[in-house]
Amino acid sequence: MLSFPLRAPTAEPLSVLAIGAHPDDIEIGAGGLLLGLASSELRARYVVLTGTAERQQEARNAAHSFMPAADLTVDMFDLPEGRLPAGWASVKEILEDVARSCKPDLVIAPSSDDAHQDHRTIGELVPTVFRDQLYLAYEIPKWDGDLSRPSIYVPMPASTAHRKVELLHKCFPSQRGRDWWDDEVFLGLARLRGMECRSRYAEAFRCAKSVIMPAALSRGTSHEEL
Ligand SMILES: [Zn+2]
Repeated sequence: MLSFPLRAPTAEPLSVLAIGAHPDDIEIGAGGLLLGLASSELRARYVVLTGTAERQQEARNAAHSFMPAADLTVDMFDLPEGRLPAGWASVKEILEDVARSCKPDLVIAPSSDDAHQDHRTIGELVPTVFRDQLYLAYEIPKWDGDLSRPSIYVPMPASTAHRKVELLHKCFPSQRGRDWWDDEVFLGLARLRGMECRSRYAEAFRCAKSVIMPAALSRGTSHEEL
């Protein structure tokens, strides 16, 4: 197994765009990755497409808690929850607006094969808008039982996995009453993904397409020159 370090292709800090259909999606799917990235210099744009005022405030707090030192921009929208397929044009417009104002190295977003219609709509649109980015599609455990076979693993030290769960509870008090919202679900999935990549815990992602370059080629070579 060969590991690839996740770092910016230039001397600039890594730039990450995290997209969620609902407040808490990003942190459940990629909170460990964000905690890991936030330990070095990071530019982050955080976009959530639905949510009541209360839940949007939770998401804002969470973004700052998971990435306390990042150069962070948060954008919240209030498209109707559960109805994003009908708001396809609005979702696409929002993503295109974001793409016009930022050129991230990495996009973290839901997967096109997610069983939740809001997640799936975003997952279908992301590759139509972001074509020069590494797109990692996160997974969210749910009643539908739609977990699929990941292609990318991000190992998490136990301290990060526990910190992630601690922050989920702290940042999203409105979700605590849900029957699936508990340590065992979050840590159980992380432990399983960890076992699959020979780590104690991990987060897993789907990556439909990635571009890799031999080091000699990538040094000082811009896209235009290739
Ligand atoms: Zn969601």
